[in-house]
Amino acid sequence: MTIIDAHVHFSNIQSFIDTEHQSRVDYSGKGLRKEMDEGGVALCIGMGVTETEPEEFPDPLAVSPMMLDLEPEIPASLAVCPGINPYSLDQEGLDRLEKEIQKPAVAGIKIYLGYYPFYAYDSVYQPVYDLAAAYQTPVVFHTGDTYSERGLLKYAHPLTLDEVAVDRRDVNFMMAHLGDPWVLTGAEVVYKNPNMFADLSGWVVGTKADLDEKLAGDHFNHVRHALSFCDHYEKLLFGSDWPLVPIKDYAEFIGNLIPSRHHEHVFYENALRLFPKIKNMIQR
Ligand SMILES: [Zn+2]
Repeated sequence: MTIIDAHVHFSNIQSFIDTEHQSRVDYSGKGLRKEMDEGGVALCIGMGVTETEPEEFPDPLAVSPMMLDLEPEIPASLAVCPGINPYSLDQEGLDRLEKEIQKPAVAGIKIYLGYYPFYAYDSVYQPVYDLAAAYQTPVVFHTGDTYSERGLLKYAHPLTLDEVAVDRRDVNFMMAHLGDPWVLTGAEVVYKNPNMFADLSGWVVGTKADLDEKLAGDHFNHVRHALSFCDHYEKLLFGSDWPLVPIKDYAEFIGNLIPSRHHEHVFYENALRLFPKIKNMIQR
């Protein structure tokens, strides 16, 4: 089966570089290429983020939009969602974002709820939604636990996405991580709102052994419940959050949680529907 990984990273962020010790991933363009070949991954979508100093993310000084800066060259078959720093979202920042959106490899926009202390429905983000609507570009929200203890969880709670989904029916959204650990709430917001999708990335940091151990125990009972409650497999997307886990191992792990009749949709078709521009980047 050919796979699209709808959530990876390719930025020079110290905490991602440090996960190499936990996930034993080669966090480089070469490493990504190798994992894509081994896992049958046709395309990855990278979430743009930058920090001006190591360990700074969420960085109030990062220039908006934040892009992929791990290496000077962006690997082939890696699309990008430019990241928004709400503190640098003046007119110049919006103009820069609009220029990026017009580029072929720019598939969506990423907003870092919880890392930056604004709710999804905050007025600071409305100009971003206006651009998203004008260019039919989806907006991805970080939701759930933050990968930094300086994050503020209330801004990343999936229930806070309901209001923006209702207010902006002219934009499609993707709730990253299905709001984990509040996945049942996340599932309800996806179930209720036709324009709310979710990715299933980032639930584990580690190796295949860590994934197997968590899958065998009761650690993922909340996810099993949420997926069956949601019952909208046409709006759930595979994503790994690489380099947090090896892509192929995480794909097998998600494959175990999703009924096989929905695999083609979750691992491939839904990404093409939500991110229409990536069609032109895939050689199948
Ligand atoms: Zn991520």
